[in-house]
Amino acid sequence: MKKLLLVLLVLFSSVAQAAYPMKPKLIVVFVVDQMRADYLTRYQDQLGSKGIRRLMRDGAYFPQAEHDNFQNMTGPGHAAVLSGAYAYRSGIVLNEWFDQESRQLLYCVADPENGISPKNFNTTTLGDELKLVSPKSLIISLALKDRAAVLMGGRGADFVLWFNKKEAQWVTSRFYSKASAVPEWVSEINSDLKANTKKTAELDGANGHRRTADLAVRAIQKNKLGADGVTDLLAVSFSSFDYTGHRVGPLSPDMIPMLQSADQAVADILEAAAKSAGGSQNLLVALTSDHGIPPMNTDMHTIRMDPELIESTKVRAKAEAVMTEKYGKPGDHPWIGHVGELGVFLDWTTLEKRGINRSEAEKLLQMELRKHLPSAAVAQILTSTEIEAGRVPPELQGRSILRTYYPGRSPSVLLLPQPYHFERNEAITQHMTNYAYDRVVPLLFWGQGVSKGIFPGGHIVDLAPTLAFILGITPPAASEGMVLKSALKI
Ligand SMILES: [Zn+2]
Repeated sequence: MKKLLLVLLVLFSSVAQAAYPMKPKLIVVFVVDQMRADYLTRYQDQLGSKGIRRLMRDGAYFPQAEHDNFQNMTGPGHAAVLSGAYAYRSGIVLNEWFDQESRQLLYCVADPENGISPKNFNTTTLGDELKLVSPKSLIISLALKDRAAVLMGGRGADFVLWFNKKEAQWVTSRFYSKASAVPEWVSEINSDLKANTKKTAELDGANGHRRTADLAVRAIQKNKLGADGVTDLLAVSFSSFDYTGHRVGPLSPDMIPMLQSADQAVADILEAAAKSAGGSQNLLVALTSDHGIPPMNTDMHTIRMDPELIESTKVRAKAEAVMTEKYGKPGDHPWIGHVGELGVFLDWTTLEKRGINRSEAEKLLQMELRKHLPSAAVAQILTSTEIEAGRVPPELQGRSILRTYYPGRSPSVLLLPQPYHFERNEAITQHMTNYAYDRVVPLLFWGQGVSKGIFPGGHIVDLAPTLAFILGITPPAASEGMVLKSALKI
């Protein structure tokens, strides 16, 4: 009897062990650009049963997961999704910053040698780590926005594709492909686009989601993703949601068809993925967003708020004037390299040439801008010297500033706005803070190794390490996220 029990125990434990690591045939990661948390709760009745709602019902749903950037936007948001890294290590602090070497604005995925690449992205992604241990795994990342596709794909991806609006073509760069050539299955779609340019006209509407889904479905079918014994990874970001969101704001009913088209796109991609991988039981799926968005400032009148927009051009003029008044004319380049996305960038070369101490110049700007900018709009002004010394506000705000700060890429002086105050630009509403409306987004897991339930908490940096845990592979190098235990059925 004892012997039988022992045999059963050994058998049982070997069965339990066999279940880990999980070997999904295909991992699909979705990002809906600018989908703040309440879209899925407010409009869940508007969703179909085979797309996002299926993940909400049958998967692990974190309705209010959080980003940890100080300035939440597309570059840093996508960089976090599959790297699990904070910006202070990934290096993607903003969509663009003032580059102290070239003394020009530098786009986060700009690369003088290759056009577009992850050159400024210091770490690896989940796809990179998978590729290292399983070279036959196919890794594909795509989005209308180049920065979304590149920062999810990382360096080792087989195909990283984005959309050239001017040419109305899906493209890649020399970094990923010799002579920037796209594979055959993309050329087919491109010729179809060329033949019917009308189709490309409304990429900022639901049609953009459709186009993205078409490419993703083609990627699955033509590459037979998930069809052999190795795990493949497909990352897809829906950029059109963001384009429309900036134009109409998150309270507009015009966002409902955008959500529905993203949902339909997810459903179509999941259907193709399940078919290719021999059934949906072979899939592992995650879905999140890169940042949220506040309502338009006029919408805030409903609750008797009248947010004042911060005018970068005026801040820049004031900052330049303050420096000139104190130190005289700057020479061939202005004192201020750039003002934008809540930051003032001093030109370090101009300062060096004149022998001016950076901290002293920052302190001067901090004092003078404080007098000039209304405290109703700007709560606090911090210098990079203060941030480097750890002198930041307590709790979440300070933590997010430290997690975002990267010497030489972060601004010299940081403006901390009051809630619902944002920077004026061509968009009707703008995300770039770490307030809840910009920071909180949904996070969902579904498929192999994933439990079912609705859970509080979750950070976007947890996505990559949680998937890495399910796969039993090393998390991306600079990952600091936690494995979301409640999401696991292991
Ligand atoms: Zn975005």
